[in-house]
Amino acid sequence: MGGNLRKLSVRDLDVAGKRVLVRVDYNVPLDESLRVTDDRRIRSTLPTIRLLLERGAAVILASHFGRPKGKVVEDQRLAPAGRALEELLGRPVTILRDCIGDDVRARCRAAKPGDVILLDNLRFRDAEEKNDSAFARELASLGDAYVNDAFGAAHRAHASVSGVPQFLRPAAAGLLMAAEIGHLGGVLANPARPFVLVFGGAKVSDKVPVLENLLSRVDVALVGGGMAYTFLAARGVPVGGSRLEPDLVDTARRILAEAESRGVRIVLPSDHVHAAKLEPGAACDVSSPGVPEGRMGLDIGPATRAAYAAEIAKARTVLWNGPMGVFEMPPFDAGTRAVGDAIAAATANGAVTVVGGGDTAAAAEEFGIAGRMSHVSTGGGAALEFLEGRELPGVAALDPAPEDRP
Ligand code: AMP
Repeated sequence: MGGNLRKLSVRDLDVAGKRVLVRVDYNVPLDESLRVTDDRRIRSTLPTIRLLLERGAAVILASHFGRPKGKVVEDQRLAPAGRALEELLGRPVTILRDCIGDDVRARCRAAKPGDVILLDNLRFRDAEEKNDSAFARELASLGDAYVNDAFGAAHRAHASVSGVPQFLRPAAAGLLMAAEIGHLGGVLANPARPFVLVFGGAKVSDKVPVLENLLSRVDVALVGGGMAYTFLAARGVPVGGSRLEPDLVDTARRILAEAESRGVRIVLPSDHVHAAKLEPGAACDVSSPGVPEGRMGLDIGPATRAAYAAEIAKARTVLWNGPMGVFEMPPFDAGTRAVGDAIAAATANGAVTVVGGGDTAAAAEEFGIAGRMSHVSTGGGAALEFLEGRELPGVAALDPAPEDRP
């Protein structure tokens, strides 16, 4: 893995009487009446905000929201997130209608210890995604210190992520960022063994780089979801009308051979829940070892669920990324639920269990097992890039931990 992962923490900062610019990820889902429907990303920044307030700082929060492409879009203001924050925090939040400019600067300069200010959507300016240095400098001028607690945006080399810390020091990791780096970095660098990877989701194409990086680290990989069919095809198992990426069958064959030469077991589903069409309540059947012609494999079957649960029960580290089937549509959620329950049970038995973000985190939340994992990442794309072994721009930009300074 590139770069030093030990970073200056918000805990190391002396912030009394200072204004701290905190990059957060408040890119949260809203309903039609612009109310936040899932406030996890906001809740997960509360520890950092509370720490700063307790230590006498004024907090200035900056986030992107959606893809307004450099212009003001009324429905993409951060005000709904600000109101949700106000409720969670139990204190007023000053919600601004821009992220830079004279008014914003004056309001931030006037901030007193204990004040919380939320800038408006950074992506109302195209300078954000272009990592424009004049824009980064203006943002930097709003604070006396910088904290990044937006792991979900850490893979973007945008102005508020990698530009601002060039002009504003100290630049520290927030508590959420530190937890993400600690857990994801920990499983990559120093996993207790056996280390079991549970890998699923729709497409092999998205996941090849992650699989390649993880193959040198894990003992067993349990594969499910749509991506399993490209691997099954590589082993010559019939996959019927299942999701298949024909261009990647050779890649899958190469990965299987590489795993074998490294002594890593890649386990593929031995039975499948299949249907003629993907629709709720579709008539489904179970087959083994492949999927019949004209049918689509939409979930792992009962024998595979039991085999995967048995592997997970033996693990001391589990990394889970990607659902085992079309978990959004019962009855094709059963495989993902079974694997999730097995991972939750492994946590209770002392295993370290980490869930990569995105769909898998959503599934864990929906099944009520998110709280029974050691760590559920808040970053989708960022978690994947981290697990590929890439250095994330938002992590690279932070100051090193004091003990690592030259
Ligand atoms: P990803 O974003 O790559 O993690 O993929 C998640 C998506 O994969 C979910 O929306 C699932 O419904 C879908 N998925 C999982 N298993 C299958 C399958 N066997 N066939 C088609 N789609 C699947």
